[in-house]
Amino acid sequence: MTPLDGALWLVRHGFAVFPTDHPGLEQCAGIGRGHNPATCEDRGKHPCAAFTRAHTLDEDQVKRTFGGELRNVGVAIGACAPGPGGARLLVVDSDRPGAIEDTAAAYGYRHTATMRVTTAKGAHDYYWAPAALELGNGLGQLRGKFDGDVRGSRGYVIGPGSVHATGVIYELDDPEQPPVPAPAWLLTALQAPTTATVPQPRPGRARDRQHDGSLAGLIRTVLGAHPGNRNSALYWAANRAFEQAQRGGTDVRAIAGALVDAATHTGLTETEARTTIASAYRRAGGTR
Ligand SMILES: [Zn+2]
Repeated sequence: MTPLDGALWLVRHGFAVFPTDHPGLEQCAGIGRGHNPATCEDRGKHPCAAFTRAHTLDEDQVKRTFGGELRNVGVAIGACAPGPGGARLLVVDSDRPGAIEDTAAAYGYRHTATMRVTTAKGAHDYYWAPAALELGNGLGQLRGKFDGDVRGSRGYVIGPGSVHATGVIYELDDPEQPPVPAPAWLLTALQAPTTATVPQPRPGRARDRQHDGSLAGLIRTVLGAHPGNRNSALYWAANRAFEQAQRGGTDVRAIAGALVDAATHTGLTETEARTTIASAYRRAGGTR
């Protein structure tokens, strides 16, 4: 697989791509303030474009970009087509083979197999995460417990077909395997705060933020529920969310959507989740 093959496979599957440096070039093709292409020693990874804006899902553009000069393929995580239910891409980057498997085991879970690209050091696992969680690139509770990184909305990873500085090619483990929903234990761990310092709300936005925080907390409760407790956790969270909505005039459909997202992530069916949420809504005094 060449970078062009990889980039075409990616855009055909809804992943937004952009060119990065290729280690076969004499000097780094990466851009950016403070980056010196002539002395760059981290070759094959640096973006050749401002990737949060300059990325594409278009096959013709991919052929032009990757069919000529040597380029590796960057995957712009936040720009990729959303998954089921508007889910967003989350890539777990293991720095050694078995890293995420070991972390899952340490939490008492078996690793959830998903779309995987093997890298020079380990692997990238591509997962769907509920859009309501707004994950970034932080490790949360996994800091010190996982040999690797995660990439959420504003990050990127090097895609299949690319060449690592060691000559290793990034390869799709199974081209037929799409991303699956991220396991609840992982999402819960990534959501946990890493430091005691909580950013203070800006003046005038305090109210919104307070509400966002509360809803995020309720969603974490749903995601962290034990299998036998999922429905009651969802009912409890939905009750609290609708109570808050009545006080703050928040959009109940947005809340219901976020809760359904979280609940289906834990293994409830959408019908089960909607039934439970509707009953919480009626209890809170809603009419439909
Ligand atoms: Zn560079």
